[in-house]
Amino acid sequence: MAWQDFEHDMQRCPRCSYCKWIPWRFVRNIEYMQGCPSVARYNWHAYSAGGKYNISYSLLKERIEIDDSFLNVVYRCLMDGSCDIACKMQQDLEPLQHMQELRIKCVDEGALLPQHQPLFEACAKKII
Ligand code: SF4
Repeated sequence: MAWQDFEHDMQRCPRCSYCKWIPWRFVRNIEYMQGCPSVARYNWHAYSAGGKYNISYSLLKERIEIDDSFLNVVYRCLMDGSCDIACKMQQDLEPLQHMQELRIKCVDEGALLPQHQPLFEACAKKII
């Protein structure tokens, strides 16, 4: 599947924010209810799985372009899948798969962060 194939999920996501947390039925102590590490670090909706459905839908509808802010959100995801587990208890969407495809799109288009450059240079040296 490609990132565009998740359009139905982008529309179905009601922005409930459940993906930011450990599923509540399993929380025994509010100190440990934070799920998504990106949201915990950056404290902004765009970093959540629901937020990525938002920006992805905006990209799909050509309301925004891939810029540094967009890439910052896409590449700050640790792909740990916490959002996916929580979402499946609430709405049963595929946020992890969607984020993977969105990242693949960015890499395919050469849309990278400056921090990626040393990694590519190191890989190139190993190949040569
Ligand atoms: S838990 Fe799922 S449905 Fe709810 S905001 Fe997150 S991605 Fe959207």
